[in-house]
Amino acid sequence: MASSVLIVGAGIIGAACARALAMAGFDVTVVDRGTVAGGTSSACEGNLLVSDKGPGHELVLAQYATSLWKQTVSDLTEQLGDAFPSVEYDPKGGLVVATTGSGAQALLDFAASQRGAGVDARVIEPDEARRLEPDLGPLAEAAVHYPEDAQVQPAIATEALIASARRFGARVLENTPVLGPVHDSSGVLIGIGSPAGHIRAERILIAAGPWSGEVARMLGAPLPVRPRRGELLVTTRMRHRIFHKVYDADYVGAVGSDDSALQTSSVVESTASGTVLIGSSRQQVGFDSRMRVDALSGIAAKAIRLFPFLADAAVMRSYGGFRPFMPDHLPVIGEDPRMPGLWHATGHEGAGIGLSLATAELIRDLMLGADPAIDAAPFSVGRASLASHLSAAAGDAVASNAAPRDAVA
Ligand SMILES: Cc1cc2nc3c(=O)[nH]c(=O)nc-3n(C[C@H](O)[C@H](O)[C@H](O)COP(=O)(O)OP(=O)(O)OC[C@H]3O[C@@H](n4cnc5c(N)ncnc54)[C@H](O)[C@@H]3O)c2cc1C
Repeated sequence: MASSVLIVGAGIIGAACARALAMAGFDVTVVDRGTVAGGTSSACEGNLLVSDKGPGHELVLAQYATSLWKQTVSDLTEQLGDAFPSVEYDPKGGLVVATTGSGAQALLDFAASQRGAGVDARVIEPDEARRLEPDLGPLAEAAVHYPEDAQVQPAIATEALIASARRFGARVLENTPVLGPVHDSSGVLIGIGSPAGHIRAERILIAAGPWSGEVARMLGAPLPVRPRRGELLVTTRMRHRIFHKVYDADYVGAVGSDDSALQTSSVVESTASGTVLIGSSRQQVGFDSRMRVDALSGIAAKAIRLFPFLADAAVMRSYGGFRPFMPDHLPVIGEDPRMPGLWHATGHEGAGIGLSLATAELIRDLMLGADPAIDAAPFSVGRASLASHLSAAAGDAVASNAAPRDAVA
């Protein structure tokens, strides 16, 4: 009989894992307390980036992911047929612009280090940047073109991955929150409790995005995943005037920062429907979902520096989501040595859309006992950079009296 996996969370990470595991012959069930793509995966942008990652493990994962997206989109189209909405995959490339002298040197140094790690990072003259983006403002001091960057519509991509997983036999239970662990008489994790009763599986995979910390704590293996708020503006539809994903070089600093205070940087792109997405902010405010005027005004002001014509654009709406933040800036992918049978695929912060396919391939290979295409050790729960944070998370769980309640009566 096929080995069974229960996935907690039907965001893009759970969806990609469900598809990869179902295709490999696992018996897959996905539970979500809400609906498919009801969490962060529909409250974000859909950029698939290498440009914002410096040399290191996350870049290796992103390069692996980049190598998978094109073929996967083509496979999804074939599997789901033309009637399924397009995931709007667009390998448009990215353009990173420095608008200050000091920012220019930092950007050029960063690009040089990326080239050393195999990234196609092309330094171009400001005039050339304006040829790529005719509406770019006059402040460009330096620019780097990243042809490998791409974009998808993230909610549709999540739906498509789930629909494909279903075709390979996966079951999806919406409106089904995980309430606690189910253990056998010797204390081994054998499933989860839900309002629909116990759901048993040989492996439980937590892919609950920014709520993974809560779910992991509930199941008895605390993980230091925290929500990192992000907000965006969306303009009304307009003539296509922005042709790449364009952002200010200060975005890279914001991504890698540990600062919990508000940070804004300009990240601007057109979508297939004709709107312009203007992001984004980063702030650690727990799960407080109030839209903040200071965040939105900061984002807007910086976007206008890049593209002055946006000062006259009409804003149609704003929205925000919670990135699943890890204190050592790497996702957690693999089995939890503290609890055999419990697995994690979470903590992708602002890159979960891009990294989803590579994460799913790693999970599949690790569960099969096969050699993954890239080294999975840097993403393991047991990595050294996570040790002190795991201890702190375990301490917090004890302090908040959140010891796991066994769902077995
Ligand atoms: C403003 C913003 C912009 C972003 N832009 C990008 C970008 O351009 N490119 C990119 O790659 N990434 C981007 N991200 C990050 C990206 O959105 C996330 O990394 C990604 O969506 C995380 O996916 P996930 O599946 O882990 O989590 P989610 O999509 O949040 O899914 C988790 C699911 O778990 C479910 N769940 C929670 N608790 C339980 C429970 N107890 N029981 C059952 N189910 C539960 C939730 O209902 C949810 O559906 C952005 C994020 C933000 C906020």
